[in-house]
Amino acid sequence: MGLIETSHSQATVLTDSLSLGEIVENGLCIGCGLCRSIADSGDVEMVMTPEGRERPVALRALDKPILARINAVCPGTRIAGPPPAQMNDATLTDTIWGPVERLVLGSAADPTVRFIGSGGGTLTALGQFLLTSGRVKFVLHVAASLSMPMRTERRLSFDAASVFEGAGSRYGPAATLVDFNDVLDRDEPFALIAKPCDITAVRNLARLDPRVDEHMRYALAFVCGGASDLTKSEQVLQRFGLREDELSLFRYRGHGNPGLNRIETKDGRAFEISYRQLWEDEDKWMIQPRCKICPDAIGQVADIAVSDAWLNGGPAVEDEPLNGIIVRTKRGRELFEAAVEAGVLQIKRESDIAEMSELQSHQVRKRRAVWARLTGMVIAGKPVPFVRELALRDCAAQNSPADNLAGGRGARDRAHRGRLGEPPAVPRGTVLGDP
Ligand SMILES: Cc1cc2nc3c(=O)[nH]c(=O)nc-3n(C[C@H](O)[C@H](O)[C@H](O)COP(=O)(O)OP(=O)(O)OC[C@H]3O[C@@H](n4cnc5c(N)ncnc54)[C@H](O)[C@@H]3O)c2cc1C
Ligand code: SF4
Ligand code: SF4
Repeated sequence: MGLIETSHSQATVLTDSLSLGEIVENGLCIGCGLCRSIADSGDVEMVMTPEGRERPVALRALDKPILARINAVCPGTRIAGPPPAQMNDATLTDTIWGPVERLVLGSAADPTVRFIGSGGGTLTALGQFLLTSGRVKFVLHVAASLSMPMRTERRLSFDAASVFEGAGSRYGPAATLVDFNDVLDRDEPFALIAKPCDITAVRNLARLDPRVDEHMRYALAFVCGGASDLTKSEQVLQRFGLREDELSLFRYRGHGNPGLNRIETKDGRAFEISYRQLWEDEDKWMIQPRCKICPDAIGQVADIAVSDAWLNGGPAVEDEPLNGIIVRTKRGRELFEAAVEAGVLQIKRESDIAEMSELQSHQVRKRRAVWARLTGMVIAGKPVPFVRELALRDCAAQNSPADNLAGGRGARDRAHRGRLGEPPAVPRGTVLGDP
């Protein structure tokens, strides 16, 4: 399969379904868990691989219709942007940033939520407001596992306290959609707070399953620089000579903006490193392969996308708690303005595309780079996702032809060397020398 949009409105399509193994081994899987959820019970399980990624494994050969369904919903094989009608109706549209109803710098009004949240607590405050205002019955998001706090689990929150417990960015693997079919079976209105690719997956499913649009009232995303392998977190433990089974807490950030990466052990010890120390060496970010070709890390498919907003050029230890808030849909605008009106969110000031591009310059670079990368992969004979409505070619046109050529050649060469793929998914402990 080699699938890529050729312009804003056209696409070339070759549609042979990829097997789960092919999706994973070509570096397209992000471990959302949706395939497990829509396959027949017990046919697919998610495993933690030796590389520290949650990946699906088919326990028996999947029949063709199921595989076709998985290919239609998987955010590694199909990535659609906002529908054209939304683009046309939006207050503002930008080639890089997509549809925008309102662009604001702001945060949670409650000082505790503002402090505990990853940036300014906006997503947590919105999640709480969705419940307390009766707009939804529950919120699907993620939180640290109670038994293994370095791992991340999907959570259904029915009250504000539970949403609060999930505050904070979880950089490692997170299979948000692992039982999404059961979530739909609840037949109740809900909201999703998740990564842009999780929302892409759910929007894909909405084209096949009408229950998604019936029940999912809001989809809120954070602007996403990429999910890291669990091995990245394990390296932090190694720094301090700790084992995972000793932990009672593993917090990536929050409790300040960005706050410290804090680890606590069951026997009462505590360890901290700064956000800068955590991410100081780009070679050791251990970002998953799918993230490097992500066409929508800025959450164009969400009702509201929330980013960091470090006005001093980058994260220090204790910045002003603040988020960039990109309100994308009319529905999102109604929610955002109601939350401000109710005193749940506070606005520092209106922002604009130029400021957002400055605050998120890495996202701008990525939007401009993805078309060449995908093209290079296609030239190398590798499958790439079917991408549409995301203006990738228009973004690439903002680069010089020489830059696009270099980006495409680089991706082609890396793909030829197998550097864009990953090993077959196997559970940890089944390969000699595994962690
Ligand atoms: C992997 C990752 C990469 C990021 N990269 C960027 C970036 O490049 N630029 C940028 O501006 N911001 C990035 N962020 C987002 C940023 O860290 C803040 O989360 C965002 O600004 C929202 O802040 P907040 O205070 O409103 O969030 P909070 O109020 O703390 O709420 C965060 C919400 O996100 C959910 N969540 C956390 N981690 C995950 C996950 N892995 N999968 C699904 N849901 C999750 C939580 O359940 C919670 O509901 C990233 C976050 C993550 C997890
Ligand atoms: S990205 Fe999600 S749906 Fe696609 S193969 Fe991975 S876990 Fe399954
Ligand atoms: S960068 Fe893209 S693929 Fe990676 S976790 Fe973020 S939204 Fe998902």
